[in-house]
Amino acid sequence: MTKRQEQFETTLITASTRGEYEQKTGAVNVPIYVSSTFDQEQFDSFGPFDYSRSGNPTRQALENTIAELEHGTRGFAFSSGIAAIASALLTLDAGDHIVVTSEVYGGTYRFVTKVLPKYNITHTFADFTDLESVEQAIQPNTKVLYAETPANPLLGITDLEGIIALAKKHQLKTFVDNTFMTPLYQKPLDLGADVVLHSATKFLGGHSDIIAGLAVTKEEEIGEAIYFMQNSMGAILGAQDSFSLIQGIKTLNARLSLESASAHKIAEYLQQNDFVQAVHYPGLKDHPGHATHFKQATNAGAVLSFELPTKAFTKAFVENVQIPVFAVSLGGVESILSYPVTMSHAAIPEEERTKRGITDGLLRLSVGLENVDDLIQDFQQAFEKAEALTSLKQ
Ligand SMILES: *Cc1c(COP(=O)(O)O)cnc(C)c1O
Repeated sequence: MTKRQEQFETTLITASTRGEYEQKTGAVNVPIYVSSTFDQEQFDSFGPFDYSRSGNPTRQALENTIAELEHGTRGFAFSSGIAAIASALLTLDAGDHIVVTSEVYGGTYRFVTKVLPKYNITHTFADFTDLESVEQAIQPNTKVLYAETPANPLLGITDLEGIIALAKKHQLKTFVDNTFMTPLYQKPLDLGADVVLHSATKFLGGHSDIIAGLAVTKEEEIGEAIYFMQNSMGAILGAQDSFSLIQGIKTLNARLSLESASAHKIAEYLQQNDFVQAVHYPGLKDHPGHATHFKQATNAGAVLSFELPTKAFTKAFVENVQIPVFAVSLGGVESILSYPVTMSHAAIPEEERTKRGITDGLLRLSVGLENVDDLIQDFQQAFEKAEALTSLKQ
């Protein structure tokens, strides 16, 4: 069948059912293949599936979907975002070195600093908003530049074209954590990146109901290397969760467009609010990465962070906010307020955290699908209560 020309929003709906069986039966959803093994018809030649660690039809529908959405050739589904990241990084050899963005997800920081050194894979952190400092960190044994943009939790922006050009100049690979944007807004492979990584737990899943990770590649060699690691480490996504993730991806545009529009409105509200010392959101014109971000992405997304005056004020605010959940994670249909110091970035030692600007008054907000005016009203009453409570104590 020749493929129709279609837009991304259409592909979100159609991509998962392009398989032979769905085409034959007309099923609008991919079946959940609850089978660890597959009966082989021939003695000396096996069918496309033999054992579900190596390949499962439901997982494959998901893997094909993310590959198509990211404009890659191969997708891989893992039991968590960190499993995807770890499996991709473990394609490196002992003696290799990587340059990693200093504004990196806490779990990635832990894997890079605590696990990779055991296998003699070393690293240097660099400020990825400054291409010169990235180039200075490159060593003769460097193999990968590892980027995350927008980054976590200060929404720092990496110039992907700049980083990829640098990587190509030094014959390195570029890995990009695309969790915050998703392929709806940013497609790093189109810009020349080698591996795109996702915590699909977040916006791709979208409902705070599963933990999942994805990797996508374009070139055959790195694709084979990641497949080998996926099968060797075995941190695969199960069939049931693969199904949930396929369903989540179908509503990505509907969810993330609305959540992003609300995030923009909330960022503007916070910016003009006297209790808030700083707002980090790439959609705001005064964000230092604003222009760079809109060169490579089409929307600022649904995550922002903001700074409150003191830890006491921050605590009082969180305790009085009623609508958002106070929790680890982001990307759900519910707004999620989190405290990076003790949550996403707890794995980073205090001294390093402070250097990275992750202060005691910093809160991260992932905007959900609630009515945006309800959220703003809720924040306003919580700010007022926090002020009353903290000024009483002084
Ligand atoms: C959550 C997250 C991860 C880790 O993903 P898990 O699914 O929690 O393992 C990696 N990168 C970013 C940017 C994240 O937000």
